[in-house]
Amino acid sequence: MTTPVIIAVAITGSLPQKKDNPAVPITVPEQIESTQEAFEAGATIVHVHVRDAQGKSSSEPENFLAFKEGVNKRCPGMIVQFSTGGRGRESSTRGGMLQLRPDMASLATGSVNFPGMIYENHPQLVDELAASMLEYDIKPEIECFDLSMLYNTYDMVQSGQLKDPVHVQFIFGMKGILPPRKEILEFEVEQFSKLLPGSTWTAAGIGRHQLTLNKWALELGGHVRTGLEDNVRFDKARLAKSNAELVARVAQMATEDYGRPVATTAQAREMLSIAPAA
Ligand code: ZN
Repeated sequence: MTTPVIIAVAITGSLPQKKDNPAVPITVPEQIESTQEAFEAGATIVHVHVRDAQGKSSSEPENFLAFKEGVNKRCPGMIVQFSTGGRGRESSTRGGMLQLRPDMASLATGSVNFPGMIYENHPQLVDELAASMLEYDIKPEIECFDLSMLYNTYDMVQSGQLKDPVHVQFIFGMKGILPPRKEILEFEVEQFSKLLPGSTWTAAGIGRHQLTLNKWALELGGHVRTGLEDNVRFDKARLAKSNAELVARVAQMATEDYGRPVATTAQAREMLSIAPAA
């Protein structure tokens, strides 16, 4: 039987603004609305960054709480994943909202250069975020911007800082991180399968590489991520109308071109070892 595909939607991110695409949801009510549309199109995980009143990425727990409550109510069973990403956020506040116990949270297990900045994940911060996720029973999504981050993940599983099985995301296609080359993904997946049997993986491509990575992941048995955080375009010629449009595209591709059914929320939770929704 083919593995159902879990579709994650990254609705906002820390950088995209209305000027990039008016469909980018910025306020919490806009984010909840956009998430519901994406959920109805087949997304089972929502990855979220919240913004402050000026529209900048922030760590305000009250925004995270309002978002989580809205999505729990309007998208029954959907997995809520908070970003602990660093852009525009003080490292001391990056895990402050984990006490709200989202189903999942992102965790980068190393530092990397992004265009014009260092995406800094000090070893101590990585350890602290991982410890909070264990404490609050949050499933991490490990963000691998670089190959070393996969081996760091393995070490953290061995030392008990991460609970096995893990969920790993391989990211491609931005200056400073890995280029979108299929043989790199294949190598990563091969290493992943040896090191972390029984764990799950997904892949994300930035900008025009979003669709490319969706296709490779579907073919290689992984899960997928789409959404306006990574890419504000539907195709070269036009902007995406919504997060839901990007989700619908990958859902259709999964079923029609790759014979992969779209996972239900119950299936996604089971595959990721996340407790059924309350
Ligand atoms: Zn993000």
